[in-house]
Amino acid sequence: MNYVSTRNKNVKISSAQAIVKGLSEDGGLFVPESIPKLSESEMSSLVGSGYRSRAKLILSKFLTDYSEEELESCINGAYTVEKFAGSNPAPVKKLDDNNYVLELWHGPTCAFKDMALQIMPRLLTTAVKKQNSDKTIVILVATSGDTGKAALEGFCDVEGTKILVFYPAHGVSEVQKKQMTSQGGSNTSVMGVIGNFDDCQSGVKRIFSDKQAVKRLNDGGYVFSSANSINWGRLVPQVVYYFSAYAELVQSGDIKMGDKLDFIVPTGNFGDILAGYIAKEMGLYVGRLVCASNKNNVLTDFINTGAYNRNRDFFTTMSPSMDILISSNLERLLFIMSGCDDEKISMYMEQLSKTGKYTVYNEILNKIQTDFAAGCADEQQTLKAIRDAYDRYGYVIDPHTAVGYHVSGGYSGNNKKVILSTASPYKFPKSVITGLGGSTQAENEFRLFDILNKQTGVAIPPSLASLESAQVRFDGECGINEMTEKVYEFLNI
Ligand SMILES: *Cc1c(COP(=O)(O)O)cnc(C)c1O
Repeated sequence: MNYVSTRNKNVKISSAQAIVKGLSEDGGLFVPESIPKLSESEMSSLVGSGYRSRAKLILSKFLTDYSEEELESCINGAYTVEKFAGSNPAPVKKLDDNNYVLELWHGPTCAFKDMALQIMPRLLTTAVKKQNSDKTIVILVATSGDTGKAALEGFCDVEGTKILVFYPAHGVSEVQKKQMTSQGGSNTSVMGVIGNFDDCQSGVKRIFSDKQAVKRLNDGGYVFSSANSINWGRLVPQVVYYFSAYAELVQSGDIKMGDKLDFIVPTGNFGDILAGYIAKEMGLYVGRLVCASNKNNVLTDFINTGAYNRNRDFFTTMSPSMDILISSNLERLLFIMSGCDDEKISMYMEQLSKTGKYTVYNEILNKIQTDFAAGCADEQQTLKAIRDAYDRYGYVIDPHTAVGYHVSGGYSGNNKKVILSTASPYKFPKSVITGLGGSTQAENEFRLFDILNKQTGVAIPPSLASLESAQVRFDGECGINEMTEKVYEFLNI
């Protein structure tokens, strides 16, 4: 199976090449030429099998140039019982007969990005080996909080790679910051940027397309790659958990094979929910995908009107991983829905970069509204959702999941609903305690772990419990225009 760029479909490469390149030179994202379908017997085979065999089936449909052994080794190395605290990395919790939660935060960093970032470095190094390259891969990551740590953990001491993470210096929680600044490993570094997440992301994109920087790296024996959710190797592992959740619910007798499920997905960069769309296109029985945004509700407006407009205030919210005004992965959806109309997509993206907005034509909008619904939650509604989930179900959710919970409450279709839960409540204890109506008077965010634990009885994840005493290794900060220089410094070139 070949992959094409969303901005030039004549660019055709293999999946291994797409994963190594990350982003196409024309600025486009890589998308499979067509979306493979699962047969009915393949769907049935998912029921009763474990997460890893489900992953193997789904990934083998997309990564056709990887051998069976290569895929198995990537999957078995990533989704281990130790790293994911049990045999199922993505368990489904039942709230009641119509409402379920897919917990995606049992990995090493307690947030859903582990689902992709534990396997992506393996897919990447396997791909590089297949190409007989001897260059060291340089991973640059722009993070709004969770991706950074998950990427650092995924790449830590992976041979043939170096990773530098840029985060908004004043836009992440204390816990998120400490998770990153205390990162171990001989190939890792972390840098705070004086700006917001979009600044970090634009900065990284600029470096990738800076010919001079690319050449300087090449001369030094390095080659850029990306671990951001624009990389196909990040996206494709996320398709698996939609199938897995469905299979689990068939297995438990909560649904019958063929029943549809609606998925409510807290979204920022449109990665998680796009994976759901791909699962649907592969034949998974999905009713609607409900896009849940926080106060930065650019996607809600887009799905409801067809007009994407980033010219609006940017809010720093209690769900910082969704504080995003440019949802990169939307480009993939538009490409697929437009029937691979690369010219149109190039035009939209040029308009977006020049004027900050574009409006899609009616036919695409109709398609979008058939598959998607959208809603958003402001800060007050997010807090109320945390309280409501606890009062009603005794279930503790983080603020990102709470955005999904709120939107789910306002959405009623004909199907059972699954909310994707994207972070452990312990990653954002202050907002969670506030939502529950407790006092957050504490010396620092780490004391809040104990408060939350006392209040709810939910166990503190071990990787977070040990964080307070961890040593800070990276306390650097830089301006938006210094990012390229910081890359050179990191690589000594
Ligand atoms: C990244 C992230 C999201 C948003 O995911 P996208 O792929 O950007 O849509 C939601 N919640 C948490 C906790 C995250 O880390």
